[in-house]
Amino acid sequence: MMSNIPGYTRHSPFVWTWFSGYNVRSLLESFGKSLMKEQTKMAERIGFIGLGIMGAGMAANVLRAGFPLMVWNRTRTKTEPLAAAGAEVAQSPAELAASSDIIITCVSDTLDVETVILGPEGVAQGARAGSLVVDMSTISPATTRQIAGRLAEQGVDMLDAPVSGGSEGAARGTLSIMVGGEAASLQRATPVLQAMGQRITHVGPHGAGQTVKLVNQVMVVGNCLAMAEGLLLAQAGGVDLNKALEAVSGGAAGSWMLSNRAPQILARDWRPGFTIALQQKDLRLVLEAADQQGVPLPGTALIFQLYRTLEARGLSGDGNHALVKALEALAGIEITGA
Ligand code: NAP
Repeated sequence: MMSNIPGYTRHSPFVWTWFSGYNVRSLLESFGKSLMKEQTKMAERIGFIGLGIMGAGMAANVLRAGFPLMVWNRTRTKTEPLAAAGAEVAQSPAELAASSDIIITCVSDTLDVETVILGPEGVAQGARAGSLVVDMSTISPATTRQIAGRLAEQGVDMLDAPVSGGSEGAARGTLSIMVGGEAASLQRATPVLQAMGQRITHVGPHGAGQTVKLVNQVMVVGNCLAMAEGLLLAQAGGVDLNKALEAVSGGAAGSWMLSNRAPQILARDWRPGFTIALQQKDLRLVLEAADQQGVPLPGTALIFQLYRTLEARGLSGDGNHALVKALEALAGIEITGA
């Protein structure tokens, strides 16, 4: 009986015609295609290099999303939690690259990215033509373009895809990712980037992602200084700092920095989401880029010098919110929260 056939009703012979003719074929074809696309996506083997504060959470999210994952970290012990969760561990970046379709790097500085990609036993030694390198570290835009050019010589494309959102964003998979490079490569990388981030923005060609990340950092440190000065004034003014935070965080003064780092300052908890050492590295990159372009950034230059006083006091491993300690030293008062 036709009426038992799904899709058929007595009142809709057109539906059955539609269902039984060419459209059944096209329906099956499109289902097959989307299945193949899904399988291709899941078959992309991901290699992840750099399991620091950011990389550990990001790689865990890639694994959780179902991608086959191989990891490498200079300090091997940091691979153990991911190995226990099902990731393979490579002996070198070259070995990882040879077994991966998309190779992600998230290491500290420009020279470190050059080392893991172009150095002996680096990614370039193992990567096959057609594989894709996605660098999620924050490094020099100019060097990024050079590395992309070097990889292109062996048929490997590169995206610069630095991130913002802190260690919390890395752990939760809610990072903001700013991408430079070819649109087709970004399309290919999108499923894996979606495992790590919520907002993925194509901002231009190779190096543009890093340039936008430097813009981001100018705004981050400006926010951090404003938060620190505000808290210091609240302390000096004798108000309840918790109440002050509650009052201002919902208004125009609210920010990621205020919500995530002010409570840490009140608790005098200096554990890093982002170390002063790496913050200074980013500000060095910002000031170099500004110098090359002849752009004055007086506020950012001042903040760089304030962080320098903390480095001189041996506080490079503190979180970047410890900027407040530089102001406390100038003011001769300490934020106690009371
Ligand atoms: P981190 O905790 O200090 O980790 C750095 C990672 O890079 C570690 O895995 C380290 O290996 C590896 N590494 C450094 N130099 C290396 C080298 N020469 N060869 C091989 N591996 C090397 O730093 P992170 O906070 O995760 O930051 C990673 C990147 O993300 C940086 O570019 C940073 O600016 C950027 N970022 C950080 C944040 C944040 O909130 N933390 C936010 C946005 C962007 P070992 O374990 O052996 O030391």
